[in-house]
Amino acid sequence: MSSQLEHAARDLASAMAGRDLKARIALIEATVPGRLVFTTSLGIEDQALTHAVAMHKGRTEIVTLDTGRLYPETYDTWTETESAYGIRIRAYAPEREAEERFVAESGINGFRHSVAARQACCGFRKVEPLGRALAGAAGWLTGLRAGQSANRADTPLAEADEGRGLLKINPLADWSRADVERFVADNYVPYNVLHDRGFPSIGCAPCTRAIRVGEDERAGRWWWEQASKKECGLHVHAPEEQPPDERSPERNVAPGQEAAAFETTRTSNALEMAR
Ligand code: SF4
Repeated sequence: MSSQLEHAARDLASAMAGRDLKARIALIEATVPGRLVFTTSLGIEDQALTHAVAMHKGRTEIVTLDTGRLYPETYDTWTETESAYGIRIRAYAPEREAEERFVAESGINGFRHSVAARQACCGFRKVEPLGRALAGAAGWLTGLRAGQSANRADTPLAEADEGRGLLKINPLADWSRADVERFVADNYVPYNVLHDRGFPSIGCAPCTRAIRVGEDERAGRWWWEQASKKECGLHVHAPEEQPPDERSPERNVAPGQEAAAFETTRTSNALEMAR
């Protein structure tokens, strides 16, 4: 039997279909009661959404998860966006004790030791701050698109997030990458310059590289892991255990050996970016 939240999600998704982005934001604000939170990663999809939310001048809060490991270009985009729209993007940072404990136990780049270590890092840098950002929210807006990866192919315009007890709303779910780029160009939306350097998806600096022609848009995220697992725990309901992957030794690096493994991948990234 469908829950109340599922009914609300279906109704909202069907009302959003066929409307442009501006009308979708207006509809969300008019029909979803309670706190609305848009979590931006400052990537190009989220910049399009920030434009629409900021221009609407409604009650949707714009927040970001400042992991402390972002590219300098991402901080520049953040500053430029606040200045362009006259807004403040509220930052949620990792708890200091959790960060200090992880670095002391695993090393500054300890997330490369294993998938579990990577999930632990994403856990205290992203998932826990996200929980605080969404506390008490009725609706969570994201810039997810179905076309971003195989994992996201079923992304609807709105869905019930029963775990968090809210509506997860994805106003760009049915947009293509070309739709996003056209919107950003037509509306002079500021965007991260890394998008022009082969980064369709931009996350933390040590965990994101440029992609090759023909690769999945999220292939540059955690590239040392299996291609089917490119999520950080923000958009999945439960982290999955993964067996050691024998095809690529650097995917399961022993503590103390991660620097050598990273050098291998960093060299190949530099070569890719030089092409
Ligand atoms: S993307 Fe990398 S650095 Fe960022 S939180 Fe996840 S594991 Fe840590």
